[in-house]
Amino acid sequence: HQLILSRKLASDQPGAIQSCLMTEMLATLHHIVQRVNTASNLEQALNHLVQQVKAAIQCDVCSIYLVAADCGANVLIASAGLCAEAVGKVRLSAGNGLVGLVAERAESINLADALSHPNYLSINETGETCYRGFLGVPIVQNQCVLGVLVARQRAVHQFEETEFTFLFTLAAQLANAISQARARGELTALAQKKTHPTQLILSGCSGSMGIAVGQGIVAYQPADLQTIPDRQVADITAECARLRAAVKQVIGELRTLKTELHASLPSEEHSLFDALILMLDSDTLLEQTLALIQQGQWAPAALRDTIHAHAQVFESMQDSYLRERAADIRDLGRRILSHLQQDQPDNVHYSPHTVLVGKEISAMQLAEVPADSLVGIVSATGSSSSHVAILARALGIPAVMGVTDMPVVRMQGCPLILDGHTGQVYVEPTESVRKQYQQALQQEKRLNTTIATVRDLPAETADAVPIALYLNIGLINELSKPQQADAMGVGLYRTELPFMACDRFPSEAEQRANYRRVLATFAPRPVTLRTLDVGGDKQLPYFPLQEQNPFLGWRGIRISLQHPEIFLTQIRAMLQASQGYENLRIMLPMVTQVSEVDELIRLMQQAYAELQAEGWVVSFPQIGVMIEVPSAVYQVEALARRVDFVSVGTNDLAQYLLAVDRNNPRVASLYDDLHPAVLQALRYIVIGAKRQHRSVSICGELAGNPLATVLLVGLGIDSLSMSAGSLLKVKWVMRRFKVDQAQQLLDLAIQQESAIQVRRLLQATLEQQGLGALITAMPYSTGVKEPHLN
Ligand code: PEP
Ligand code: MG
Repeated sequence: HQLILSRKLASDQPGAIQSCLMTEMLATLHHIVQRVNTASNLEQALNHLVQQVKAAIQCDVCSIYLVAADCGANVLIASAGLCAEAVGKVRLSAGNGLVGLVAERAESINLADALSHPNYLSINETGETCYRGFLGVPIVQNQCVLGVLVARQRAVHQFEETEFTFLFTLAAQLANAISQARARGELTALAQKKTHPTQLILSGCSGSMGIAVGQGIVAYQPADLQTIPDRQVADITAECARLRAAVKQVIGELRTLKTELHASLPSEEHSLFDALILMLDSDTLLEQTLALIQQGQWAPAALRDTIHAHAQVFESMQDSYLRERAADIRDLGRRILSHLQQDQPDNVHYSPHTVLVGKEISAMQLAEVPADSLVGIVSATGSSSSHVAILARALGIPAVMGVTDMPVVRMQGCPLILDGHTGQVYVEPTESVRKQYQQALQQEKRLNTTIATVRDLPAETADAVPIALYLNIGLINELSKPQQADAMGVGLYRTELPFMACDRFPSEAEQRANYRRVLATFAPRPVTLRTLDVGGDKQLPYFPLQEQNPFLGWRGIRISLQHPEIFLTQIRAMLQASQGYENLRIMLPMVTQVSEVDELIRLMQQAYAELQAEGWVVSFPQIGVMIEVPSAVYQVEALARRVDFVSVGTNDLAQYLLAVDRNNPRVASLYDDLHPAVLQALRYIVIGAKRQHRSVSICGELAGNPLATVLLVGLGIDSLSMSAGSLLKVKWVMRRFKVDQAQQLLDLAIQQESAIQVRRLLQATLEQQGLGALITAMPYSTGVKEPHLN
């Protein structure tokens, strides 16, 4: 009503009231958008929206048409003003009528008299012959027209600019909610007036490579802590005993799960269960809950509060790995609660091809599925650093994480296909998709058997030129024994991860113990420890950095230079850790100036001299710089002269060369480390480093991409460092090409004008060489995404 009043006033006193009108419109807009974004039922939300818009701009009709994904028709999905029966029935084929024109051109149309437009179409179902004024604005997301928002007036009427911008802004803000609903398959059901949508394609991120074809089994949540009410207890001692007994039972369960998984899990992974048991045994969790019971609260509510508080501490952490620990804590809480309620989990019936599905799958839920029945995992939350993803990789089971729009309830018992390469999940897949993936699955099995045959063969080209393959690691526990044995050593140990796992800077002794474990595991093979590379998207909970533009701010060695005490402690710990092993190499991240390297080498020499004076028997290690920003590319020779080796961080190099935030999904399609500009930079780096007789390695994700292997051979890279899962694939490809073949391909690739052309060329080359299985095992043909062979 306020808005209508403002509009009336606005027409009387246009200037003075204009801003009032805008404020009101903005408030209405916020209200509508919020309602749509938080709606559990989009149909209801869109009905509300059209009513609100009709009232706000006082038009006779407001309607929404959505583009049907299958045929491109514009389907009337909600209307205020047109007859209700028309909704779902009116389907304007692509390009038809004024609505079709708006959708086709992705441009708004504002007509005082629609009847005079050649595209005007009279539709009987809507009874709209008498509507003359027409305003249609497209709803667009990621260059794709999702639908059209339409306002009509019975009389000849040109919509005003404020009305037009109102609808325009609304359409822009609606796009996200509509696109999410479309991903959930809700719109197909709406448009076809079906109660059950058909095939759904969901997107998440890859947690573990591979393809799974199976049946969805929703991970059982034994008890819901959120719904527990407060309640006072009379017998506090009995309540405390009840809690202790429940915790003891959960510890027993965890021990059983650990034993059951013993055979199928690498020994390093057993520590996960130990960590959970330790968490339960710790004074903090148990004692805090008991303290609340002492105040008169009953055990379930006391547990609810402590679990919530502990989970929140982890959730507020910047580091994704630590944030994931909140899920473990909540799962422990649910388990204790189920014992308190004496509500033992039902006996779940697992299909022989179980794809475990859940909002927040815990490592324990995963462990409960019989090992020979589990074929895949889909989780609505989490990322590739979640424990579940780490376990899935260790067990060799495909996993897709972070599928935010997943209709979990609908997936119980559903046929599912998950593609751990692309991060896509097909719910109730069509027959053709199913056939395609069944074939891919067979191919993948054959491929893995073939690839495993190179395990004991040297990492060299077909003409016997060796290229050393190293591992990238963060936590030593990630690796199984054979994986450790496959590599020549460690090419990148990201030291920030142990820093992130602490609640304060780790001491020199703590760091020494940590680095020594890694050096000892691989000795005498070389281990490259990278100095602390925090900042950007990697934050320490106890050293928060608030910056407008963190990737261009205080990160990597910029922090080391301003905090020499942090750097010196780390270098001292690294050097001490190497005593007796002599396999340490140290690498500096985010170098942009030669003076930075000079100063850091001076500090390293200072630390070395101190240790010698203190009686440590260590050698001065080999030092390397990472080339990961454009300035370092163009000063590669000056940098290389100062150190022993250079290693290219292609993840950041691509980010800074292409000016694309590597973590921003909006620009993810622009991020490609096979962009010809990145290849040019790589060639420049190799030529410069070789001129200075320094070895060059690559330790970004590109090194582990088998599609890129031939190019990297052609470039003359000396070594590649990658995650364990890629190592044999890369070796397999490398052994099939001679150096001169690889050089010819590089010349061709570097002349391409786009990353997609480079990818096509590389795919064709692998196919010609009989390595097509690497590509066809990953069917992107339904592909929303471009193939990434990482
Ligand atoms: C890189 O940037 O390529 C790299 C290896 O470092 P990080 O991914 O840790 O930034
Ligand atoms: Mg980097």
